Amino acid sequence: MSERRPFDVQALRAEFPALAQEVYRKPLVYLDTAATTQKPQRVLDAYLGFLSHDNANVHRGVHALASRSTKAYEQARSTVARALGAPEARDVIFVRGTTEAVNLVAETWGRENVGPGDEILVTALEHHSNFVPWQRLAAARGARFVVVPVETDGSVSVERFTQHLTARTRLAAFAHVSNALGTVLPVAELTRAAQAVGARVFVDGAQAMSHLEPNVLALGCDFYAFSGHKVFAPPGIGALWARRELLEAMPPWQSGGEMVATVTEELSTWGPPPTRFEAGTPNFAGAVALGAALEWRFELDFVALQRHEAALLAAATARVSEIPGARILGEAPGKVSVLSFVIDGLHASDLGMILDRDGVAIRVGTHCTQPLLARFGLTATARASFALYNTLDDVERFGDALNRAVRMLRTGDP
Ligand code: PMP
Repeated sequence: MSERRPFDVQALRAEFPALAQEVYRKPLVYLDTAATTQKPQRVLDAYLGFLSHDNANVHRGVHALASRSTKAYEQARSTVARALGAPEARDVIFVRGTTEAVNLVAETWGRENVGPGDEILVTALEHHSNFVPWQRLAAARGARFVVVPVETDGSVSVERFTQHLTARTRLAAFAHVSNALGTVLPVAELTRAAQAVGARVFVDGAQAMSHLEPNVLALGCDFYAFSGHKVFAPPGIGALWARRELLEAMPPWQSGGEMVATVTEELSTWGPPPTRFEAGTPNFAGAVALGAALEWRFELDFVALQRHEAALLAAATARVSEIPGARILGEAPGKVSVLSFVIDGLHASDLGMILDRDGVAIRVGTHCTQPLLARFGLTATARASFALYNTLDDVERFGDALNRAVRMLRTGDP
């Protein structure tokens, strides 16, 4: 087991080279972690080190580098399993990211298990990645696509969710944490309710991994997916965990090299999971870097981390709330450090561009959650998302820059 390090924001921050730069001659304040996390030096070193010394295609070779590379890739699979509290590494499939995981399950398990008249349930706060593939699956299979509304504070009510379940619900898919609002969904309760009507549960963990320590057994879900780039690893790698009996029964999605057992001119047969779902050369260097990122993350004191992020969120919420005409979206109790807001009469994109000139990076737009924004009568918000490496000084820089931007846009004065 890795030792937990005492939580020291300045020491952690110093591990992230990207945070030590200036933009427009101002020190960077990076508040776009919900889109992607920055990477600690240890992960960058692991990535480059692997490519510099051990690089060889996995599972195919008999030479020394091939065996080192394969070992590192499979070690990374075990590390992912550990990070998810999953008992078996072979139940982890490497994918490109959460989006690919959703599509994989929709196109394999979904095609086989969802039929005419069945229902697929999602919530209104889903990222398009955990919405559109299910919507397409429902349309292709003649199933009903049911969207559970969110509450005014941005939470998902177990009661309301349960009211939308029926004996025809085959699958419920929902986020662990909302990227647009920061809401933490009551995954274990929602899962129990869905499974009580015989549905399977897919959890989109994309936003959870940098704020929480999910455990798939405690959550009780059937599928759990996340993206490496949102948990301090490079883009292009992520993981899907699923219950073994589901993986065993699922047909392949993509086919080609490595995923087969036998190939003849007449017929091919499939290998067992996880290789059945990893056709072609996988992103093994990315997987190794993901393993390094998760090992780094095991050392974090999550209790202190969550306390730190809650303090950042409270301070940022206070700064935004003091602006006349500001409205915050998402105030669910226990939410993570994501702050979405709009300001009367001002375009989010104007705010984003002016803040950028002050060195403050926030995100503006739909956050790939158009159905959610429509529910609030909006087409865009500004979003500041805070991570373990942000400081109260970042919050002050953000608050000051936002005040300046609002004044500039309202008065026309620079
Ligand atoms: N779900 C959520 C909640 C997300 O925040 C994101 C990324 N913004 C995704 C899914 C999709 O992840 P990716 O683009 O890495 O596949």
